[in-house]
Amino acid sequence: AAKEAGRDTLRYYSPEMNVLAMERLTLERDLRRALQDDPSQLVLYYQPQVDAATGECVGCEALVRWQHPVRGLMLPGEFIPLAERSGLIVELGRWVLAEACAEQARWSDSGMQLPVSVNLSPIQLERSDLQPYVKALLQRHGMMKGALELELTEGALMNEDDHHLQAFNGLMALGCRFALDDFGTGYSSLSRLRRFPISRLKIDRGFVRTLPGNTDDEAVVRATLSMARDMGMDVVAEGVETQAQSDCLQQLGCRIMQGYWFARPMPADQLRAFVSGVRQPVGPD
Ligand code: C2E
Ligand code: MG
Ligand code: MG
Ligand code: MG
Repeated sequence: AAKEAGRDTLRYYSPEMNVLAMERLTLERDLRRALQDDPSQLVLYYQPQVDAATGECVGCEALVRWQHPVRGLMLPGEFIPLAERSGLIVELGRWVLAEACAEQARWSDSGMQLPVSVNLSPIQLERSDLQPYVKALLQRHGMMKGALELELTEGALMNEDDHHLQAFNGLMALGCRFALDDFGTGYSSLSRLRRFPISRLKIDRGFVRTLPGNTDDEAVVRATLSMARDMGMDVVAEGVETQAQSDCLQQLGCRIMQGYWFARPMPADQLRAFVSGVRQPVGPD
């Protein structure tokens, strides 16, 4: 209560901007502390990627959450931008990679072969120590080729110097696969896309939301699928929320889907149950 009063007083006497800046600094300090002293505040949820034709779970995406001591469970949208601005994304990204690889290896040890996809910030890709870090993880856990997929948005392909391309190739040599996240929302040219060793396109959920019925978005999906086929890439549709969307996508030729219709992001133990066919009620995202 005293804390609330304190905050209100501050709000009363300070211009709104300062309060926002203060809150951001506080959150940044909290995140730094969590990373240094109490990483158990961080947790990975996993969202299944399902082959809609067979119902089989063929992969999963690791999505970070932060159990903040005061604010409760926070979604990445509430702290990833701050982590990127402050540079904490490097450490946070390392934690995510380490945790996802450790979990994937546990699945593998128990006979569950399921690739895991991890979101990478372009800032991580710029660090020359990313490749050795990932290499050490893959070796430590004896992970198979293709067990770790890295998701990047088109922004990561925009960088003009070839450092990015080298980073991609270095990671690919380790057996990592790459997926292009939120595909269709960026501005990467096809010629540029060709230069990168991308093995999957993830159709942004903005194009899925209006299916069936929106002929423009259907055309985008169709074009993405045919381009992917020509370039030897897979396609995953993101944000599939209804049976009708799933049916429509399947008719268009897209099989792999991720979205609330199939499953929400869930803790690792629930994912195991999901994969082994025991569907459990899923909690809030
Ligand atoms: P993303 O990589 O595009 O991840 C998909 C987001 O869509 C997730 O949100 C997921 O919960 C949500 N989603 C999945 N299915 C549906 C659906 O059917 N409907 C709707 N409306 N949403 C759906 P989340 O977990 O809040 O993550 C948001 C973004 O934060 C991610 O977008 C990704 O860009 C970023 N992010 C998450 N985890 C990490 C991480 O470990 N590192 C980095 N750098 N970024 C992360
Ligand atoms: Mg993603
Ligand atoms: Mg996405
Ligand atoms: Mg996104």
